[in-house]
Amino acid sequence: MKISYQMVITALAGLGLLGCSAKKEEKPEEVGNKEPLSIIFMIGDGMGVPQVSTAYYFGDSLPNFSRFEHIGLHKTSDKKYEITDSAAGATAFSIGQKTYKRAIGVSVDSISQETILERLKGEGYQTGLISLTTITHATPASFYAHVPDRDMHEEIAAQLIDAEVDFFAGGGKKFFNKRDDGKDLFAELLSKNYHLDTLGLSKPESNKRNAYVLADDGIPSKIEGRGDYLSEATKNALDYFDQREAPFFMMVEGSYIDWGGHAKNAEMMISEVLDFDKALGVVLDYVEATPNTLLVVTADHETGGVSIGKHYEMDESTGEKKEVPEKVSVYFNTDQHSGELIPVFANGQGAENFQGIYENNEIYHKMLRAINQAK
Ligand code: MG
Ligand code: ZN
Repeated sequence: MKISYQMVITALAGLGLLGCSAKKEEKPEEVGNKEPLSIIFMIGDGMGVPQVSTAYYFGDSLPNFSRFEHIGLHKTSDKKYEITDSAAGATAFSIGQKTYKRAIGVSVDSISQETILERLKGEGYQTGLISLTTITHATPASFYAHVPDRDMHEEIAAQLIDAEVDFFAGGGKKFFNKRDDGKDLFAELLSKNYHLDTLGLSKPESNKRNAYVLADDGIPSKIEGRGDYLSEATKNALDYFDQREAPFFMMVEGSYIDWGGHAKNAEMMISEVLDFDKALGVVLDYVEATPNTLLVVTADHETGGVSIGKHYEMDESTGEKKEVPEKVSVYFNTDQHSGELIPVFANGQGAENFQGIYENNEIYHKMLRAINQAK
């Protein structure tokens, strides 16, 4: 439960302090402004402008993307390659430096760097991570782990135990309980005051940390029948953080937009974008209703070199291809990542910092700037 401006005024009035001349110089709105800024950072892995565009052509209603008031673009290149990967991409966001491909939470010379999640935890923030793939996968791992290569899943899982993230949800059971070193990391989580669920999204316990590890590998994709996991996990996390005093930093990943691009599977990619947009709706509602919150949404890179073009169907009478005016088709130019500038959407306090065109690692600095401005 957070202290609202109205509650402060009511309390001061109750104590008869509002008329007191000694207190006159303390403007009431300064009391409200001292609450630290909470940040929800959402990454649609592989989500460039073409992927966002599919929400406008294939969705049933106006996408939640239309609710954003501040929009910018970032350049995704890593330290060496113009075309990055998800490890260097997420690490640029988490440590504020461009690094090499496959790097997790380390600089270009493989030195561990404090991540934004670790830094804010040190300042008393609650922390959260939600992913669709294994919780040790490159994007979530870049916020709590420090390893030279993204495939070091067992080491990354061990570092997750030490990170003491307050709420996390994703897949990757095998890296906890079927490890080469024989350790049982689930037992270690339980010894660290975690409510652990390996079956489903049970209600988070407010007096504990909460861990949801729900699949041996990744959680199923939308077309494989995932259901509403992303929106529900996000809602549960927001409810959990909201019940407690401290501000929070949470990263939520829509992981499989990227996988749809690699597979050149338009149905998979579009369904993942629409599911991500649904989760955006949950967070946008929360941010609009909650002062001192900021939502930043972006991607690490685009995947598939996607374009949205003319849709043709065979004309029965002529036997020739004919353009269908009210439809579009998705075209893939590659099964790899691409180098397009990537959109950044922001709403809430400090959202104006994210306008303009800048490098990917600037997003880290812009988030910290928004926090400092709120102080
Ligand atoms: Mg990812
Ligand atoms: Zn990828």
